[in-house]
Amino acid sequence: MTARRPLIAGNWKMNGLKADAELLAGGLASRYKALQKPAFDMLLCPPATLVSVVAGHIAGSGLVLGGQDCHASEKGAHTGDISAWMLRDLGCGYVIVGHSERRADHRESNAVVKDKAQAAQAAGLIAVICIGETEGERDRGEALSVVSEQIRGSLPAGATAQNTVLAYEPVWAIGTGRTPTPDDVAEIHAEARKVANQVMGGGGESLRILYGGSVKPSNAVDFLGLTDVDGALVGGASLKVDDFWAIAQAC
Ligand code: PGA
Repeated sequence: MTARRPLIAGNWKMNGLKADAELLAGGLASRYKALQKPAFDMLLCPPATLVSVVAGHIAGSGLVLGGQDCHASEKGAHTGDISAWMLRDLGCGYVIVGHSERRADHRESNAVVKDKAQAAQAAGLIAVICIGETEGERDRGEALSVVSEQIRGSLPAGATAQNTVLAYEPVWAIGTGRTPTPDDVAEIHAEARKVANQVMGGGGESLRILYGGSVKPSNAVDFLGLTDVDGALVGGASLKVDDFWAIAQAC
C-alpha cells in the first residue's frame, strides 16, 4: 500500500482575533519547528481576516496554511468573496471546500463544490473537499450512498492525490461531541477510497482521506489508527494549542 503522510488540519471557522491567532499559530509553530522530522503535516485554516497574520507567525516553521472557502472564479464582481488565487497570494497551500456548514448555510451543491475545487487546483492549491451524511440519512441507512454521491459530484476532473484531500465529516458529529464508531468510520473511508479511485481513474491509494467531527485528544487515536484514515479535520479542539497538539500526537 502507498504510504500516505498524515495531515492534521485545524478549521478555526469564524473564530479568532489577531491576538488569538498570535497565541495559537505562534504556539503551534514553535512546537512543530522543534520536531526533528515531523511525521505529519499540520495545516491551519484561519478565517480570511487572519490568513496574513497567521502566515507571519508560522513562517519558517513548516506548518502549512489554508483558507476555509474560495469562490469558483479567479476574480470579478463577487462582493465579499475570496478567490483561490488570493489565498495563494497570501501563502496558502490549501483551501477547504464544501464544508457542511457552507453546503447548509450557503446552499452549496456538489456542482458548486466541484467548481470551487477546480478553481483551487487551477490556482495551485490543494482542495480539502468535505463530504458527510446528515443524521437522518444515517438513520435511514443511506450514509454510504450519500457519501459516494457527494464524491462523484464534488471531485473535479483533474483531481489527483497531489491536489486533493477528502474529509469525511458526518454532519451530526460536527461540534456535537458525538462521533460515529471506529467501525462506521472505517466502512465509510474504505468506500470513499474505492469511489474516489474510480472517479480519479486510479491513484486513490495515495489520496489522503481525513476524518472530522468532534475529534478531541481523548478519541483521536481511535480514528487515526484506522487503515484508511489519513488524518483529521478538527474544529473546536483546534482552537487550543494543547488539544490540537495532543490530537496530532495520535498519528
Ligand atoms: P468539530 O468540527 O471538530 O468542532 O466537530 C469539525 C469541522 O467542522 O471541521
